[in-house]
Amino acid sequence: MFLYPQATENLGFEIQLHLPAHWEIASGLHFQDNKTVVANFDQLADSPFICSGHIQRKSYEVNGTAFHICFNNQKQIPWEKVLEDFKRFTQQQIADFGEFPVPEFTFLIQSVPYAAYHGVEHLNSTVIALGPSSEVFTTLYTELLGVSSHELYHVWNVKSIRPAEMFPYNFKEENYSEAGFIYEGITTYMGDLYLLKSGVFSLEQYLKELSKQVQKHLDNPARFSMSVAAASYDTWLDGYVPGAPGRKVSIYTEGCLLAFYCDMKLRQATQNKLGLEVVMKHLYYDFACQQKGYSIQDYKTALENFSGQDFTSFFNDFVYGTAPYEQLLSEAFEYFGLELQQTPANSYAEARFGMKVSQVGKDWQIVQLYPGSPAELGGLAIGDLIIAVNQVRALPQLDAWLSFHENQNKTLLVERSGRILELFIPEVDRNFFVQNKVLRLATLNGPQEKALKAWMLA
Ligand SMILES: [Zn+2]
Repeated sequence: MFLYPQATENLGFEIQLHLPAHWEIASGLHFQDNKTVVANFDQLADSPFICSGHIQRKSYEVNGTAFHICFNNQKQIPWEKVLEDFKRFTQQQIADFGEFPVPEFTFLIQSVPYAAYHGVEHLNSTVIALGPSSEVFTTLYTELLGVSSHELYHVWNVKSIRPAEMFPYNFKEENYSEAGFIYEGITTYMGDLYLLKSGVFSLEQYLKELSKQVQKHLDNPARFSMSVAAASYDTWLDGYVPGAPGRKVSIYTEGCLLAFYCDMKLRQATQNKLGLEVVMKHLYYDFACQQKGYSIQDYKTALENFSGQDFTSFFNDFVYGTAPYEQLLSEAFEYFGLELQQTPANSYAEARFGMKVSQVGKDWQIVQLYPGSPAELGGLAIGDLIIAVNQVRALPQLDAWLSFHENQNKTLLVERSGRILELFIPEVDRNFFVQNKVLRLATLNGPQEKALKAWMLA
């Protein structure tokens, strides 16, 4: 633990590591003989390092900047493919910004044997945790690319382009900000979009990722009660835990969809010549490079200047308000020649009961309830273990038993904190947790063809 020395914040530090002989260090810092010097506390706290006997590394270069990829505890790395893909999205991001903010960059990738997905941006590096390691280059490869492109984009957006509230960082207290929809939302949107633009993702792969964001948004009833600006402020209070059901939205998900809409508006207003990347480039050169933080108003002004349109009601309704996104989304899909395909959920529990469950041993535990759904009206609660449906043990598949009693009244036996309850579940004639898929329209008109092409390509 590096404690924050308030009085000596700007003093340098020397780090000496005592390691087993065959161990190596992976870090954005340069170590020599396991020793390094850092300029100040910020650099110290923001320069993680991995010490391990199982590091594998390779580098690539874009415009004279070196990028290092370090895997810890990962076997069978298809280096050629990894280097090519990383180089592609890196090139594309640098091409749009014009320069890379730091002289060198390191991806520190912790491969773990269990399911994991996490990434954090740092000064000139990122730490990514991904697992299980057996799947990193198969089913998890799109996740590896997604999180890596996202973290690289952060070198500009939040490490350099920073809300005024975080400029400089105040290590003595929370740095509350309502701008999470910019620093995480735009990063989520652009991180994936650069994979599409650089040809690492096909349109189909990209739309799969976009569909996930649409799905998360529409599945979350909190979108009617909390604004993304308020959610951003609260990240300092409750971080990444799910929190009280239906209470909070996500700066990642909602921010990504709002960024998608703004990108569309800019493209629409400029005959597809300019997109959100010009706004970010402006924030980079005119704020970050001038050692200034930005305000949400600065972002709004930039959107308005580049598009020639008024964004006041957009900010009031969707950033500070809780207006439904459906209209925004369909406008953006329409513009690019995309459509939202909605189908009932495959699972009976989700579609008809309005509850998401996960298996715990032999039992089924409720993890999410949709407000107004039969499950919620019937008095079920998150955390309940469902034991029986109409007096029959719900084994092995809960769904099979729920649909078996399709047109009958249903009574569920549940365990809640050690007590057994019998609950009657009413019928509600609608579908819950509808499945959302963003697809390319079968036929595009001329303007859509143009818009989609310009959006997808560099
Ligand atoms: Zn992020």
